[in-house]
Amino acid sequence: MTSLAGSEPAAAPALLFPADCRPGETCLIQKLFDHDPGPGRSDYRCGLLTTDGHDGIDIRLRTMAAMRSGVAVVAARAGTVLRTRDGEADAGLGGPDRVGGKDAGNAVVIDHGDGWETQYSHLLRGSVRVRPGQVVTSGETLGLIGLSGNSEFPHLHFTVRHGGVAVDPFVGLAPFAGCGTRAAHTPLWSRPVAAQLGYAPAGVISAGLSSEIPPSPVTMRDPPPALAGVHAPLILWVDAFGARSGDRQEFSIIGPRGEAVHTQVSDVDKGGLSWFAYSGKRPSAAGWIKGRYVGRYRIVRAGAVAAEVETSALLQ
Ligand SMILES: [Zn+2]
Repeated sequence: MTSLAGSEPAAAPALLFPADCRPGETCLIQKLFDHDPGPGRSDYRCGLLTTDGHDGIDIRLRTMAAMRSGVAVVAARAGTVLRTRDGEADAGLGGPDRVGGKDAGNAVVIDHGDGWETQYSHLLRGSVRVRPGQVVTSGETLGLIGLSGNSEFPHLHFTVRHGGVAVDPFVGLAPFAGCGTRAAHTPLWSRPVAAQLGYAPAGVISAGLSSEIPPSPVTMRDPPPALAGVHAPLILWVDAFGARSGDRQEFSIIGPRGEAVHTQVSDVDKGGLSWFAYSGKRPSAAGWIKGRYVGRYRIVRAGAVAAEVETSALLQ
């Protein structure tokens, strides 16, 4: 990578990851910054992991339980708190009408000097622990990831602004050079963070086995549905992101003795930023045998595995 001293303003920040979770493990980057100036959408890799006009990145928790356990939102860099809001409900139903224009929900804005600001949105109600005027250090806890404002799932919407204009932290201040490798850009992340944050074009948010046909999307359900017994259907459900037309998806359920109970391979129709899929079967008259069942799911794109997950549940 070519790195010329002075090619960016000296003040370009070296940002920390703004949440106390491990991307790709305990949390996921599900949505990126939109670089398409028109009504379309394009993330910095020309993928579709964004929505029209999305001005930040979404760091998503996999489950409501993870949110309740308390995942800290931290200052990406030292600065002074400009504004805060707290007291908005973690309703998770979304919709700008319902939230009365307070789309960001509970939020914190930090001024880092030299025109740089960061904003942390959708924080958990009652969790904001800084106040305007307060000086914060890099990595200091600001609040907890929540579901307030226009938010359909527990996540942190993280926005970086320079001179009042939103900037993609994966691209930096230089004009967007088009899609391609990240080497074309100078991310605002610190070196260790930039090295850690890969680009996952698809992923599985959560998955499980249940007895419901059809299961409703479950990321928001708490607790997720469980197996109802030996005479109930056996369904593998998956909450994924980034599936798209042309992908193939493979479901399999394996019984307590290692036997294949169910397999299904199908083509993805449309797909999308959020992708909820399921497959399973009803038992014979004798019912399932009791024991631990394993569900495996994967998305295959151009012959390679783009996302996969394994889950299991005890049938009693
Ligand atoms: Zn967002």
